[in-house]
Amino acid sequence: MKILIADDSVVSRHLLEATLKKWGYAVVVACDGLEALELMQRENAPNLAILDWMMPGMTGLEVCERIRQRAREPYTYILLLTSKSQKEDLIEGMDAGADDYITKPFDQHELQVRLRAGRRLVDLQAELLSAREALREQATKDSLTHQWNRSYIFDLLCRELSRAERECKPVGVVMVDLDHFKSVNDNHGHFAGDAVLCESARRMQSTIRQYDAIGRYGGEEFLVVLPGCDEQSSFNLAERMRKQLSQSQMSLTENAINVTASFGATVAVPGQVWTAESLIRKADEALYLAKRLGRNRVEVLPIESPPAPAIVSQPETEPVAQ
Ligand SMILES: [Mg+2]
Repeated sequence: MKILIADDSVVSRHLLEATLKKWGYAVVVACDGLEALELMQRENAPNLAILDWMMPGMTGLEVCERIRQRAREPYTYILLLTSKSQKEDLIEGMDAGADDYITKPFDQHELQVRLRAGRRLVDLQAELLSAREALREQATKDSLTHQWNRSYIFDLLCRELSRAERECKPVGVVMVDLDHFKSVNDNHGHFAGDAVLCESARRMQSTIRQYDAIGRYGGEEFLVVLPGCDEQSSFNLAERMRKQLSQSQMSLTENAINVTASFGATVAVPGQVWTAESLIRKADEALYLAKRLGRNRVEVLPIESPPAPAIVSQPETEPVAQ
């Protein structure tokens, strides 16, 4: 584990550094508070820091406050080095966000115990962070293809639509359905079917732009959101995905098969308020058209404007007979 030590006293710094190295820690050294702060704000900064309280430029306490203000993740465990005379100020140190303290000159056993407690907290937090990351992945990704799942891609489309509305830009929506997918499952088994789904997603993903998004919408259906794309560019991108998908056979465990897909696209044009539902319905319609016209093709359908809100006519008042 990496530890940062910051101390302006050369003697104390060297002693601390030698001790920590002897215990197997990797040590990063700062000679004053400003340098410590700079080192602690870098990427992959140590998650454990020992800061001398009294330092020129910036005190250990001020470094502590600055670090806590940023609420950095992962957490930095901070041990303050204090002189005996500062003991009564410790509450102030804890208020500034220090986790623990040790008095100078430090006792080796005491330091070892304090560091062990710090390490335990840092390790626990790392476990928590990775568990949270796994949960986030589970909640937003499709477990088979690792693309976005249905609810996430739907939300993403809604977000893109409101952004496009603000920025007056179009959004392309493409619905993809693998052709004759049932026969892959029937003839080669479900594992082969799963492999085909993963490889199809991978091939499509490899052709879209960085800011496009692809999600698994249903069994063998994918929804692709293309921010900023009008009809022509939506068609071009769908065509690129179609070609990439069908250009070479997909090899399964025993044999290789040709996989194609049909694509239905529509575009939310600027100047109107579109709902995700109406766009998906229109893209679906275009997809069925592509299926009817022979599969392995792209069809784009323009979406009609949503009907203007009905005006409820007020009953006319009878002219009063004069
Ligand atoms: Mg000092």
